[in-house]
Amino acid sequence: MQLRERVKTVAKQVLVRTTRGKMMWRGPSDARRVAITFDDGPGELTEAYLETLADLGVPATFFIMGYYVEQEHLPGAVGKYLRGGHQVAGHGFFHQRFTEMGARALRSELDRMHRALGVLPWGKWVRPPHGSFGPRDVAVMLALDYTVAMWSFDSCDYDGATADVLVERCRPERVTPGEVMLFHEANHQTLAALPAIVRNLQADGYELVTMADLLSD
Ligand SMILES: [Zn+2]
Repeated sequence: MQLRERVKTVAKQVLVRTTRGKMMWRGPSDARRVAITFDDGPGELTEAYLETLADLGVPATFFIMGYYVEQEHLPGAVGKYLRGGHQVAGHGFFHQRFTEMGARALRSELDRMHRALGVLPWGKWVRPPHGSFGPRDVAVMLALDYTVAMWSFDSCDYDGATADVLVERCRPERVTPGEVMLFHEANHQTLAALPAIVRNLQADGYELVTMADLLSD
């Protein structure tokens, strides 16, 4: 492992420990389970994602934007995710980088996001847009009682890859138990790749669970 990567790994371990698990990148590695997560919804593909996941019979975790919920890009979106057995969590209100806001603006962004999503059974969860945060942002999120949910496996589905390439990238040989896999909801290629990605993981003995379940037991 490169020094830079080692430093990052140690920094993550320190954050997981010092926040008592309120910040996390992945689940325990002792069970053959993974969580698939989708950012940036709700949108025009949401219903297709929900149908595909229902056909596959697996739950996912959706990190959604308050603004899109309020604009009703998909009317009743939060209820639709929940009825599908999925976890819903926040991904900012406007998808602005937390690192570019003052502390007061960040608190207000998180409050607006929370009001748009409503009270959820897992408590308050957030994934900072672009995955970017600094020490000040961590302090603000934790003070507002957020669980900060990152990821350990990036499908890089934002780089224009075809569905076949995405299936190849997400083959079980490249995944380890406890992994949190990052995808994006507005992506047709991701949607097309999803059945094969899920079936390959299941064929290799992986159970797919929500992020909350991945971390709770
Ligand atoms: Zn995003």
